[in-house]
Amino acid sequence: MEERWFKEAVIYCLEASTFQDSNGDGFGDLRGLIARLDYLARLGVTCLWLGPVHPTPGRDDGYDVADYYGIDPRLGSLGDFVDLVHQASNRGLRVMIDLVVNHTSDEHPWFQSARADAASPYRDWYVWSAAEPAHTHDGVVFPGVQKTTWTYDKKARAWYYHRFYDFQPDLNWANPDVRAEVARIIAFWLQLGVSGFRMDAAPFVIEDVHPDEAVHRREYRWLNDVRDRLSWRRGDAVILAEANVPRDELLEYFGDGDRLPMLFNFSLNQHLFLALARGSAGPVREALVALPTIPPTCTWATFLRNHDEVDLSGLSENERDECFAAFGPEESMQLYGRGIRRRLAPMLGGDRRRLELAYAIQCSLPGTPVLRYGEELGMGDDLSLPERNALRTPMQWSDEPNAGFSTASSDRLIRPVISGGKFGFERVNVDAQRADSASLLAWFERMLRSLRECPEFGTGTWATLDPATDAVLALRFSAATGTVVAVSNLADEPCTVDLGPELPEGTRLLEVFANRQYGQSPADQSRLELDGFGYRWLRVR
Ligand code: MG
Repeated sequence: MEERWFKEAVIYCLEASTFQDSNGDGFGDLRGLIARLDYLARLGVTCLWLGPVHPTPGRDDGYDVADYYGIDPRLGSLGDFVDLVHQASNRGLRVMIDLVVNHTSDEHPWFQSARADAASPYRDWYVWSAAEPAHTHDGVVFPGVQKTTWTYDKKARAWYYHRFYDFQPDLNWANPDVRAEVARIIAFWLQLGVSGFRMDAAPFVIEDVHPDEAVHRREYRWLNDVRDRLSWRRGDAVILAEANVPRDELLEYFGDGDRLPMLFNFSLNQHLFLALARGSAGPVREALVALPTIPPTCTWATFLRNHDEVDLSGLSENERDECFAAFGPEESMQLYGRGIRRRLAPMLGGDRRRLELAYAIQCSLPGTPVLRYGEELGMGDDLSLPERNALRTPMQWSDEPNAGFSTASSDRLIRPVISGGKFGFERVNVDAQRADSASLLAWFERMLRSLRECPEFGTGTWATLDPATDAVLALRFSAATGTVVAVSNLADEPCTVDLGPELPEGTRLLEVFANRQYGQSPADQSRLELDGFGYRWLRVR
């Protein structure tokens, strides 16, 4: 039995602010989330990843933290947070929170003190340059919106570094006091019961920034330090890192299993979109084969949609254009010149067969699936909202006013709910889908229950099989618990594949989950039928 819980988890990513408002102020909160835990338990996810919960001026959706030891008062109190962790735990759900420690808000008292006085104990917690740095425009994270990475601060009479927006000054990780403080932050939230953290912007966190350099050296050893301090406090705690870096740098983040245990698999994400655009399994197969071998104690986190744009920067220009043409042809759908700011259902034109296929593939790729709230309903996006807010609209619970998200008047909501049309809350909501056994929500519940019966997807060793058909992805996973095979047809045309040569003689294949009941004899794996956009998970006996 694999004892690493995160390898068998299903992570559900949400922001409390847009999930459920309990007090009618138009802002989702922790008490609202607590009231929805039964929904999440029934859905079958096992771990919640909460977007930033800390006090914040809110200029970057909470990714501008003003106090790491508190809860944004609009979300509730520390008492509410501990109650959330407790109530979640009662339902077998773990809680992870965002660890946003590359930078703080410029309103954080540390930065206020640092800028006000060169002798402040916090001065060296940030990255300063007395003279204008040579590369003030290099390395912006949000091209087209963000202009510079160094800004002059009149009060400090110096330039400060900010990898993100100018209101997010970078913490100086080269300062051991900063690293010790981050360790205290980690320890604090572990003590309150979280199971781990999603580390925001990991490659930037570990930059050792010097004003005269255009490219900053990364100190991976700082990750060993973070991991040590994490594990000393709670042995099974994890850090899930956001590190969208070239293939040859990925292993640095895992180390020998002594740095970060889990990384988002950006390459698989981008190649899965390319595969869906082409109706070919080739891009996913190639991306899988190209993955580095990671330490056995580590794992990947797979995703289709998250809270950010689909970042296609790892594809070639032609491949990116293919994805844009298929899923985000209009400029308003694209973002930062590299991505698509849409949810999956509208990207796939609401095509139920392809939605199921996409999520069935994601959940049967090597690693731990991370799902974005609302995707289980096929929620849409609101392209009239700026940047990534397009896919950060309130959860659609019912056809009541404000989609059941809040009783506030609709002009007081944190963000408008999606109303009208194919993806409006009047048609797409939890209540309606809960009552319909053929709904996408019901499908997700079945799929996630079936996934629990196939721990090998998360824990096993895997191999790509050759189904001799370009459109079909076939993967085999083996662990002490057994062997499972996942086959998926990315094309619209039905087909038959022969897995006979790929499996030991006498093998019987028992269907665990599929787009329909194929009713095929378990002994006949030489002619496996697959519908157009069909998928089958099979246990090898
Ligand atoms: Mg509220």
